[in-house]
Amino acid sequence: MDVRQIKDEELISYLADFAREERELTAQIIICLSELAGRKLFIAAGYASLYDFCRYGLNFSRGKAFKRAKAAMLVTLFPQLIEYLLRGELTESHLCIISGKLTQANFNVVVNSVSTMSKRQAMLFMSRIDGAGNFYNREPEINLTIPCGEELLGKIDRAREIMGIDKRGKSLTLLMEEMVELYLHTHDPYLKAQRSAARQEKKEAQKRALEGLCSRSEESTKLHPGMKGEVQAVPEKEALHPGMTRGDESCLEKDKKEALSGMKAEAGHNAAFLSLAASSSEVKPSSRYIPAQVRHAVMLRDGGRCTFVAADGRRCEGVSGLEFDHILPFACGGGHEVGNLRLRCRAHNLFWAEQVYGAGFMEQRVRERKEVLLLRSG
Ligand SMILES: [Zn+2]
Repeated sequence: MDVRQIKDEELISYLADFAREERELTAQIIICLSELAGRKLFIAAGYASLYDFCRYGLNFSRGKAFKRAKAAMLVTLFPQLIEYLLRGELTESHLCIISGKLTQANFNVVVNSVSTMSKRQAMLFMSRIDGAGNFYNREPEINLTIPCGEELLGKIDRAREIMGIDKRGKSLTLLMEEMVELYLHTHDPYLKAQRSAARQEKKEAQKRALEGLCSRSEESTKLHPGMKGEVQAVPEKEALHPGMTRGDESCLEKDKKEALSGMKAEAGHNAAFLSLAASSSEVKPSSRYIPAQVRHAVMLRDGGRCTFVAADGRRCEGVSGLEFDHILPFACGGGHEVGNLRLRCRAHNLFWAEQVYGAGFMEQRVRERKEVLLLRSG
């Protein structure tokens, strides 16, 4: 088969078939290894362990040898697992995760739960089972192992000193939590948009309060024409603006304007904000700059994730390096309205641009950009 000659759909279909066959083959390898371990054939063949047989006898990589030997030993202890492997409900990764904590008593609960889980979910689930196979009440967690050089270790120690985290008293987990929280607070565009929305909601509430105040003030003036500029008591106004002079209508107007201008400067996810951003008269189609409130509204509406949907209805999972894509391209007169923007990952933004401008044009643009970057770095 010459893969260069086959159609796109056929290529995807072939790959799906091969992936399924690979899973089935892996299951068969583990079952055979389990039988081989039961007969102790690897010892007679001159290997000290099943791992050594996998590593040097079958030339598996270290990772694969470790995983498959561990999975096979578990199948030797629990032959019922063969059925799950053959049906594709459990993989070698699943078996490695449950190995060491699976017992006859918890078999059904563990196997039936883990078979529907991803690798990470399964690891979290198993973290709540102790070495004897009993469930205990604790927060699910997994251990992370990261390589650390001397420089990074020094920085971690310094961060601990500044944060007042005693090396013995509190764990590295606390430090990681603080650092990750700080990073996300500063860099997560979705969190930024949420904070902006919260500020916008607060300003909306202030604006409503001010408008209520204005209408009450006007009613009061109508009822007592002689009291214009001499309103005696306006508790609500004072509660909102303690420094305001009684009856100072110009100050009231100033605050109202400030609240309104604040609305334009901030962003939010409520309907009022979306319509404000969508109809914003401050959008300047001549500039490529997308106003912050529009970016935040698009980020919240799209859930901080690429919006590309494939022909089979599958939506892209991309959440990093997202770009704001103009549905009607900017170069074709498309504006920065919320309705004309959507989140796209780099790959799908480029994919769309190639469809609009042609692959040759986009390749030329990418080449030019790389040359500029090279010149800058040189
Ligand atoms: Zn995407």
